[in-house]
Amino acid sequence: MTDHSLPQGLHPETLAVREAVERSQWGEHSEALYLASSFVQPNAETAARRFAGQEEGYTYSRTSNPTVTSFERRLAALEGTECAVATSTGMSAILLVALTALKTGDHVICSQSMFGSTIKLLGTEMARFGVETSFVSQTNIDEWKAAIRPNTRMLFAETPTNPLTDLCDIAALAEIAHAHGALLAVDNSFATPILQQPAKLGADVVVHSGTKFLDGQGRVMAGAVCGTVALVDKVMGTFLRSGGLNLAPFNAWVVMKGLETLALRVKAESASALELATWLEAHPKVARVYYPGLASHPQHALAMRQQNGMGGAVIAFDVIGQGAEQLRANAFHVVDSTQVCSITANLGDVKTTITHPASTSHGRLTEEQRQAAGIGQGLIRISVGLEHLDDLKADLSRGLDTLK
Ligand SMILES: *Cc1c(COP(=O)(O)O)cnc(C)c1O
Repeated sequence: MTDHSLPQGLHPETLAVREAVERSQWGEHSEALYLASSFVQPNAETAARRFAGQEEGYTYSRTSNPTVTSFERRLAALEGTECAVATSTGMSAILLVALTALKTGDHVICSQSMFGSTIKLLGTEMARFGVETSFVSQTNIDEWKAAIRPNTRMLFAETPTNPLTDLCDIAALAEIAHAHGALLAVDNSFATPILQQPAKLGADVVVHSGTKFLDGQGRVMAGAVCGTVALVDKVMGTFLRSGGLNLAPFNAWVVMKGLETLALRVKAESASALELATWLEAHPKVARVYYPGLASHPQHALAMRQQNGMGGAVIAFDVIGQGAEQLRANAFHVVDSTQVCSITANLGDVKTTITHPASTSHGRLTEEQRQAAGIGQGLIRISVGLEHLDDLKADLSRGLDTLK
């Protein structure tokens, strides 16, 4: 549905609060929430044209819903893509990409440091349908290049990674993918369009878990795929509408309202994270800090170039200690000494979250796999929220200062 009331050429900040389907006859200021599974047709002729796709108009919420359309248009405006389609979760967005971009006999390359469920979905579930997956280094572009085969259809990247904040160079991956007629898909859940717009760097498909920063207040699960009308709306959207991977209107409304404050939240969280990371790096009980905004990050220059000069909200750090057992005890002590931070593996929230990856998000890996991934027992991950920085420092000091 098109709304002609907005002028052309508006900036993303404006579109983040203004882009939506047109107001109803009641003139509501905040966007309406259309909790309706179906839509009444004015007459049989119109119904026939709408069902045949010859006329725009809502018929059934699995096909489209005005609240969902508003979220899709707003997110596409922020990502700078022609369109977006909304899905029930981030994983259903990745499933949608996998089921539409790949078929039996195809090959996909992705980083071994991607989100755990993505690795399971592509590497294990899709293998049952005859899709081959190669896992390569997040940071070594030559490994991606070397993994290309004649049947490679897609490169799938996620940057920065969870929890160690390793980056990959989106523009370089796009070049490799396109030289071989493959697609580049980028999971932008961590960075958000405020830090980077992968489509502008050459990505064909941009995937989101709306559950993280887009909602940003821990309320709903949501997902989306952004890109061109030809690929994302016509091919992926058609599958979505038949397959029922839809986002519910209520969740769409919540995450759409989240987009209104996304830029303010991400910039504030990123600024706090930089200060906190700098402070942690100087702390005697901290062995190492992983944060793209720090000059000590091996990919600091790439991060500043690719991420709009920002490091993002997520920090990981190793506490001091000797041997796995003591490292784990020390990390648990710091986590358990917090009184403000929430102990939860979720991220991207306005409430700061703290987690011990080796025993939670990466707990199912073998010790060997964890070591290869660089996720030690002393590692703690924080997703910085909007609390006062002094309160966060005090919260972490409680545990760090009492470490033996
Ligand atoms: C959380 C997350 C997902 C999965 O999203 P859900 O909404 O939980 O399904 C995918 N990718 C990344 C990077 C994530 O952080």
